[in-house]
Amino acid sequence: MTTLSTGSVRTPIPVNTVDRVAFRDMCKAFAEKEIGTRWKEADAEKRFPRAFYVAAASAGLIGITASEDIGGAGLGSYEEAIAMEEMSRVNPNLAVSVLVQNVAGSILHEHGNAEHREIARRNIAGDCLVAITITEPEAGNDIQNVRTRATRDGDEWVLDGMKSFITLGGDADVLVTLAQTDPAQGRNGMRFFAVDRRSPGIEVSQIDTYVNRPAPTFRVTFNQVRVPESRRLDAGFAAIMAGFNRERIMVAARWLGHMQTALEWARDYAGTRRQFGRPIGANQSIAFSLAQCHVDVEAARQLTYHAAARWDSGVPLRDVILDVSAAKLHSTQAVVRVTQAALHVGGGWGLTTELPVMRWALDALVAPVTVGSVEIQLRAIAREMGLPVE
Ligand SMILES: Cc1cc2nc3c(=O)[nH]c(=O)nc-3n(C[C@H](O)[C@H](O)[C@H](O)COP(=O)(O)OP(=O)(O)OC[C@H]3O[C@@H](n4cnc5c(N)ncnc54)[C@H](O)[C@@H]3O)c2cc1C
Repeated sequence: MTTLSTGSVRTPIPVNTVDRVAFRDMCKAFAEKEIGTRWKEADAEKRFPRAFYVAAASAGLIGITASEDIGGAGLGSYEEAIAMEEMSRVNPNLAVSVLVQNVAGSILHEHGNAEHREIARRNIAGDCLVAITITEPEAGNDIQNVRTRATRDGDEWVLDGMKSFITLGGDADVLVTLAQTDPAQGRNGMRFFAVDRRSPGIEVSQIDTYVNRPAPTFRVTFNQVRVPESRRLDAGFAAIMAGFNRERIMVAARWLGHMQTALEWARDYAGTRRQFGRPIGANQSIAFSLAQCHVDVEAARQLTYHAAARWDSGVPLRDVILDVSAAKLHSTQAVVRVTQAALHVGGGWGLTTELPVMRWALDALVAPVTVGSVEIQLRAIAREMGLPVE
């Protein structure tokens, strides 16, 4: 399994013996069967179908990097990327629910005690949906500004604060929640807590977004929520940064899958839609636009799997940040370009619900925003280049 450190040193995963072609085929078949039938209804209802989580767990797609003793697959970031790409080819938003499980779950099984690992085991078994609960109204990209306060009271902690944009926050059984335990220490005074979502004092309300509708986001309010000390994780800011970097590889793979679907659709539409007595794809302006998209897709593929392979090699975190940020940056910008190009190829019909392309273009708009925006990735890349950027 991949071991995330809380510093800059990481441990290599064992030699990976999985047949990646067979693994990709399995993920593709799973996505076609379990996402293909569900996502449209979930999108229209803006409601997460829990049966999908159970199906993903049965297929072994929850806990891909977790160790086998808690039911994980013991694989690496490369396989997480394959799974994310194949699921996102069908729908990036049910795919993101699996991404959330693998990110929040890994905090539990990599940094937790026996109680946390038991939650992770149930999560992997399809019995405990989890959510990653970090962002706040005043702490978006600036995570160091998290204000949710955890105050020690005997064997318990009392949590007060508000979180925003929590994917599956209203569906989850456990919220893996970041809070300030020692404000005097700034970012080093933060810790995660595994909080039962049904604890007294927790209120959730759905945020109505144009994106991610099958895996909706929620405001979560903590009002004097009591959490046992045994639910506090020995993981804080450094664990977040390590986790974010692995997540960014999955995010790059997510949008790689999505842009491929849009491009394949646009190519086929341009080949069959006729105007002025010929396919619209016979016009150089259309053909060259899609050729440019092809390069965007292939660059995203190379950058994403390069970053995943580097991650799995176990090099120190600081040595992989440049690869990860480059993959995340390119993929999240390229998916907007490709889906906009596909939308343009669709003409007026592209703007109707009779074609899927407007939905795809809308969904892509979240890509440059989350898990460290475009500007945050550019800053990371500039720093790694040795530039004196703040
Ligand atoms: C659909 C969706 C799902 C999400 N799911 C989750 C989840 O499950 N759990 C969770 O914890 N969070 C989640 N988030 C939160 C997400 O990660 C944040 O929205 C993101 O970090 C951006 O925060 P913000 O909206 O407050 O933007 P801000 O941080 O306010 O940024 C606004 C703009 O300012 C720019 N900016 C900010 N700082 C700088 C800087 N230093 N230099 C240059 N430009 C800068 C940004 O790039 C952006 O363009 C989700 C968000 C969305 C939209």
